[in-house]
Amino acid sequence: MSALPWPPLRDALVGEEPYGAPQIDVPVQLNTNENPYGPSAAAAADIAEAVRGAALTLNRYPDREAHALRADLATYLNADGGQQLSEANVWAANGSNEVMLQLLQAFGGPGRVALSFAPTYSMYPEYARDSLTEWVVGHRESDFSLDLEAARRKVLEVQPAVVLLPSPNNPTGTALPPEAVAMLCEAAGNGIVVIDEAYGEFRREGVPSALEVLPRYRNLVVTRTMSKAFALAGARLGYLAAHPDVVDAVRVVRLPYHLSAVTQAAARAALRHAPELLGKVAELRAERDDTVAWLRAQGLEVADSDANFVLFGTFADRHAVWQQVLERGVLIRETGPDGWLRVSIGTPEEMTAFKSALVAVVEENR
Ligand SMILES: *Cc1c(COP(=O)(O)O)cnc(C)c1O
Repeated sequence: MSALPWPPLRDALVGEEPYGAPQIDVPVQLNTNENPYGPSAAAAADIAEAVRGAALTLNRYPDREAHALRADLATYLNADGGQQLSEANVWAANGSNEVMLQLLQAFGGPGRVALSFAPTYSMYPEYARDSLTEWVVGHRESDFSLDLEAARRKVLEVQPAVVLLPSPNNPTGTALPPEAVAMLCEAAGNGIVVIDEAYGEFRREGVPSALEVLPRYRNLVVTRTMSKAFALAGARLGYLAAHPDVVDAVRVVRLPYHLSAVTQAAARAALRHAPELLGKVAELRAERDDTVAWLRAQGLEVADSDANFVLFGTFADRHAVWQQVLERGVLIRETGPDGWLRVSIGTPEEMTAFKSALVAVVEENR
């Protein structure tokens, strides 16, 4: 007889469920903030051709440091707020989720704290748990903005090794002003401040990227992904921009050959099609703004959004609303503070389906 339970999980994992939104096969899927527009036949053909080339070399391990891809990503970022970034400033992995886990593995750990401000991305506490880092959350205001003075006090009190903040925020869509990024970097001292710009490309006109202040703060890390605006969620490619010392630190914890030759080839080919893959972003932003206005016109509370989703509410029984909208063939997300629901921005047809389902459900529950 063993003293260990079965399976012999460490205490922090007992009873935990694997993370993930329900993957339900319904006609209209507006729950994981994907770009509803897939790559064109021409882009798909180029990606396939690049993968075919990589396939001929699959007896060999891939480039462990993904040199060419990181240089391409730096070039891409320099066209969207990056200040003369080069390969040494960029790191890439299998989705920005892996990038952020690597950041916690490098800079978190026992005796160290990771800090965020709720409501925030629900994966962050999992990175903390999995890297044995203590997890602390402050809070946002009722309009989901950050009170800079309160946040500064929290950082000084907690002395986090890592601050994790999405901008635009998931699930609320709220972007951080540049003063907030500067304040966090200054208050954190040598602590790492991660600004997760998974939805950066969707920000409204005049909202700057944290990339613009990157040269001022060696403790600032900006993460991005090809999963959202870039319409490449299936390829699994996320990346960060930071001081080269931060990149070198992350290289210590990455697994050898973590990024397959197939992934690197696909991502580089996709980057050559960046203008096309990002071609629907303007349309999605306009549809987002229309959706915000429409939801408000229904008398609902709606958070301002700089992302490709909208958080709205509030419902006494949000699970019932989610379920009844689902029964009408539209999958949205039950997330965020109690009473709120989140809808990703889809095609105009998908948004029409969402609106009629929501109107019907609200009618029924009146
Ligand atoms: C979707 C999302 C990501 C991206 O995850 P990938 O692993 O790059 O697909 C990162 N952060 C937030 C807040 C997200 O919502």
